[in-house]
Amino acid sequence: MKPKRKRSTLILIIVAEVLLLIAGCVLIVYILKRHSDNYYAQSIEDEYIYPEQPYETEDGFADDGLTEAETEEPTEEQTTATTQTETTEATTEATTEATTEGTTTDVAAAHPEIGVNDGDWCLILVNKDNPVPEDYSIEFTDLSNGKQVDSRIYPALQAMFDDARSYGMDLFVREGYRTSDEQQRLMDERIEYYENEGYSYDEAVDFAHQYVAVPGTSEHELGISIDINANNEVSDDDTIYNWLDENAYKYGFIKRYPENKIDITGINNEPWHYRYVGQKAAKEMKDMDLCLEEYLTYLSDNAE
Ligand SMILES: [Zn+2]
Repeated sequence: MKPKRKRSTLILIIVAEVLLLIAGCVLIVYILKRHSDNYYAQSIEDEYIYPEQPYETEDGFADDGLTEAETEEPTEEQTTATTQTETTEATTEATTEATTEGTTTDVAAAHPEIGVNDGDWCLILVNKDNPVPEDYSIEFTDLSNGKQVDSRIYPALQAMFDDARSYGMDLFVREGYRTSDEQQRLMDERIEYYENEGYSYDEAVDFAHQYVAVPGTSEHELGISIDINANNEVSDDDTIYNWLDENAYKYGFIKRYPENKIDITGINNEPWHYRYVGQKAAKEMKDMDLCLEEYLTYLSDNAE
């Protein structure tokens, strides 16, 4: 009896240890996964402007950010969109519809106000090797939430928002034009953050440069890039990001920093950052799966 009991105790201990080991492994995998998710959720240039919560106006309502500051009554289409957002069912149905409907040609026909924009101005390249030109000047349109965009992209942006809303989606412009000074402030805040974490000034600068675009090299300084987010009281992030991913090109916008081009753009996946390039370029880039850097090379390789 005695040795038998001893053996069963031993087996129990082994089983307990194995279970403990498995639990430990699961915990480690969980912690590592959370860490990497957080890492990718951070964006090199947008970390500070990606909201945890929907943007709120002083009235406590999420502002769509897209109705020109001094425009009149909402259009019939916008009113319909508002009604649709009231039922979740309508939203789900509309989303399915939205992803399958409409081509660039349809959109162009429905929105003659967009015009054909294929000038060099909308193909300007700004990244860490190509700063914003010193003499770059912008004519702005103010959005209703105080953000600003280059007036030339405004009609296309409004058309895209009108259509998204007509499918029951609630989205808003989180960030439009950003001055070089604002970009510098983001950088300074980031450096200070690392210094407070105990790093030396030089180390803090090195880290900050991995996460924030150096002033003068952020596309937001062009006024033709915007960050679009979901009002989470109505729409979830993925619904908005997926719709934009599938439809924005029809209005001349491209997802500037896609997941599969990180090694070329040098910037983490940013499903909210859209850049205007004009309808022709946007369609070609979408069809050929090229990011802006690749597309410009393609254009110069194929120039007469
Ligand atoms: Zn952005």
